[in-house]
Amino acid sequence: MAIQRTFSIIKPDATKRNLTGAIAAKFEAAGLRIVASKRIQMTLAQAETFYGVHSERPFFGELCEFMISEPIVVQVLEGEDAIAKNREVMGATNPADAADGTIRKEFALSIGENSVHGSDAPETAAEEIAFFFSGLELVG
Ligand code: GDP
Repeated sequence: MAIQRTFSIIKPDATKRNLTGAIAAKFEAAGLRIVASKRIQMTLAQAETFYGVHSERPFFGELCEFMISEPIVVQVLEGEDAIAKNREVMGATNPADAADGTIRKEFALSIGENSVHGSDAPETAAEEIAFFFSGLELVG
C-alpha cells in the first residue's frame, strides 16, 4: 500500500477539553505524520457544506451546530495506508462500539460529540483537504 494523505478534524468536544495534543499523539503513535495543522472556527455555512452528504439525516442541524460550538483543529495526516489507518485509530462512530485503545473509546462523549472526523476514501480525502487547506499550506 502506498503513502497516502487523509484529512482529520479534532472536533469541538475535544478542543474544549484540551485534548488536541493527546489526540495528535495517538495519530503519531499509529505511524501517521501530521503534515499540516491549524486551529479554526468554522462558520455555519462551512459546516453545512462540509457535512452536506448528511443534510437529510435527522441529526444534521445538531451536528452542524456542534461543529461550530468551539474552534476545531483541521489536519492533514500522511502515512502508509493513511485513510484506513486513521479510521482504525479513530474507532467506531459511536464510542460505545469503539475498540479499546481508539481515540473515540478513550475520549468521545457520545455518538455526536465523538472527538474526531476522518476521511473515508481517497476521493473524500482529496476534497476535504482542498476544502480547508490551500496548496501553499501543504508541503510536498
Ligand atoms: P464517521 O465517519 O464515523 O464520523 O460517521 P458518519 O459519517 O456516519 O457521521 C458523521 C458524523 O455525524 C459523526 O462523526 C457524528 O459526529 C455525527 N453523527 C452520526 N450519527 C449521529 C447520530 O445518530 N446523532 C448525532 N447527534 N450525531 C451523529
